[in-house]
Amino acid sequence: MEGHRMQHITILGATGSIGISTLDVLARHPDRYRVYALTAQRRVEELAAQCERFRPEVAVVGTAAAASKLSAMLAEKRVKTLVEYGEEALCAVASAPGCDAVMAAIVGAAGLAPTLAAARAGKKVLLANKEALVMSGALFMNAIRDSGAILLPIDSEHNAIFQCLPQSYQRSPEDHGIAKILLTASGGPFLNRPLDALESVTPEEAVAHPNWVMGRKISVDSATMMNKGLEVIEAHWLFGISASQIDVVIHPQSVIHSMVSYVDGSVLAQLGNPDMRTPIAHALAYPERIASGVAAVDLVQVGQLAFQRPDFQRFPCLKLAYEALLAGGTAPTILNAANEIAVQAFLDRQIGFRAIDRLIDRVMQKLPSGEVNDIDLLLEQDHRARATTQKLIIEC
Ligand code: NAD
Ligand code: MG
Repeated sequence: MEGHRMQHITILGATGSIGISTLDVLARHPDRYRVYALTAQRRVEELAAQCERFRPEVAVVGTAAAASKLSAMLAEKRVKTLVEYGEEALCAVASAPGCDAVMAAIVGAAGLAPTLAAARAGKKVLLANKEALVMSGALFMNAIRDSGAILLPIDSEHNAIFQCLPQSYQRSPEDHGIAKILLTASGGPFLNRPLDALESVTPEEAVAHPNWVMGRKISVDSATMMNKGLEVIEAHWLFGISASQIDVVIHPQSVIHSMVSYVDGSVLAQLGNPDMRTPIAHALAYPERIASGVAAVDLVQVGQLAFQRPDFQRFPCLKLAYEALLAGGTAPTILNAANEIAVQAFLDRQIGFRAIDRLIDRVMQKLPSGEVNDIDLLLEQDHRARATTQKLIIEC
């Protein structure tokens, strides 16, 4: 392929589910992409193997101990990647002059600082880390606008919506005849479980998603449907659309990844097999198209597509997220922080599944939400919400 400038990519969270899928797509197009930096928190062996294969300039890990372990492994393999550690190093590889595009695929609030650094540096930001946008909302979108960065959604629903919007779309639905966004949701593993059985489901059952293979945190979020709640907030910020214009539709087959409903009655949908390499390839090459390794969906084999409305009694987290979006200010930051702590406590078997929504609800009631226009104040709110959730967990 001629005429393509080589793109240098940083992957934040390279050893995770999205990180691995991203490397799979990059490996198919060595004529277009080179890896600038790879980062991981703990999985040093996996990161060392990735460095050996993709030869990044820099690798970043969480701690000094992990960095010396990685350095030793790379020296043995004669790989010349520079090894660094800590949040400052993450921000540096996300904003370095040698990097063109950043895949933001760290899970949770830990991804905020480097993703924001990429936004401020005017990079092409491929956003998987929805928690970063949910917690920082307007601040993040302003950083993108002020630097002229390009923001492309990786979350399959938002990538689908992006594909169904006109190319000239500028965050104002009324100017483009857009009536609604229809976010599809699989309903997760507990869609048809008797309600009273939800108290006693295990982490293993919660992370066993029927259609997607993902990291543990987002898998639990899918089981509570907090994932869809976070995605409603994400859609609000990405597309400048109000909560009342975002509908969630349960679609258990996960073939339609979301839809845009126009005022003339047209509903545009994007379809595909549930494989994150499709949105990743789309965002990497946008506005061009490249192969992702994913086959086109065989609709005859799928046979039927079903749809139903979500039940807030079964999925109270979805309701809590809508309420947080309507409340505005720091309410989504508090929601996200409480959810991260509660999900970790559930995974650690400290609390039951239904305690997740009850805890978030209590934290939302307890902490007032205010306006913040400064990242440090926002992080203060985030920390406060985490501490409050921890305290409630210990008490219960
Ligand atoms: P994962 O748990 O598989 O991977 C997370 C990555 O983040 C790992 O590389 C890990 O090393 C790194 N990480 C974790 N904690 C860190 C910390 N404190 N500091 C620095 N790095 C840290 O998660 P995933 O499923 O790949 O999801 C990543 C993000 O993408 C999440 O925000 C998730 O919501 C979003 N997302 C994932 C999918 C999916 O299919 N997996 C789909 C849509 C959106
Ligand atoms: Mg999604």
